[in-house]
Amino acid sequence: MIRLVNVNMEFRGKQILKDINLTIEQGEIMVIIGPSGSGKSTLLRLIIGLLKPTAGEIWVNNREITGLTEDELGRIRLEMGMVFQYSALFDSMSVGENVAFGLRQHTDMSEAEILRTIRRKLRMVGLRGQENAMPSELSGGMKKRVSLARAIAINPHIVLYDEPTAGLDPIMANTIDRMIVSTRRMIDATSVVVTHNMSSAFRIADRIAMIHNGSIIEAGTPDSFKQSENPIVAKFIRGAT
Ligand code: ADP
Ligand code: MG
Repeated sequence: MIRLVNVNMEFRGKQILKDINLTIEQGEIMVIIGPSGSGKSTLLRLIIGLLKPTAGEIWVNNREITGLTEDELGRIRLEMGMVFQYSALFDSMSVGENVAFGLRQHTDMSEAEILRTIRRKLRMVGLRGQENAMPSELSGGMKKRVSLARAIAINPHIVLYDEPTAGLDPIMANTIDRMIVSTRRMIDATSVVVTHNMSSAFRIADRIAMIHNGSIIEAGTPDSFKQSENPIVAKFIRGAT
């Protein structure tokens, strides 16, 4: 579903990602871990086509995206939803309008269908009946759930999550984790989750990849990670749990 081939990314001559090779299978939850500043958010932005790599190929759903025009990328992005690190809700819009934003922009759904979709997606994230609330009235965890409802409004094939549990208390973090897993099941989405919460990674991942100094230094199942003999990986797991 997603394949990165020898992907390199530089910002102003500084190499952030080096020869990244990573394949993410249909329906899989791939968790990306790594220290702050290691290039995790950059990796997500590359997958969603907001950034172009300095070198390498990025395949999404059997199409190589680095050579596409903005129009073509726009269509590919309709297959993806992203939950941004700081929720990034439109503060002047109600919860329902936030969830409907992509539907209004990119589909010709009728108003009745849009309202049905809003209700269904808010129910999926445990926010039944909140469509008229304003973002400023919501807790951090609720905003995150609105952001998730918005990301899955178009039934994307791929959902990208950038630190979805950062800043949340452990109970809310657990709730968000369960929603990531149930979202994968309900819309059969391929999911890429960036986190530096190791207990969260172990809870939800099918596979985990760790980025360190711009390279993937370990990739495998949660069990293989727990037994990693790479001292950097072992130290990170101990320190971040
Ligand atoms: P992470 O999400 O793992 O914390 P990021 O992908 O946000 O890391 O950033 C990796 C590095 O790339 C950081 O050193 C950051 O300062 C740099 N960086 C990210 N985006 C840009 C940009 N648009 N321009 C210049 N440098 C950037
Ligand atoms: Mg980041």
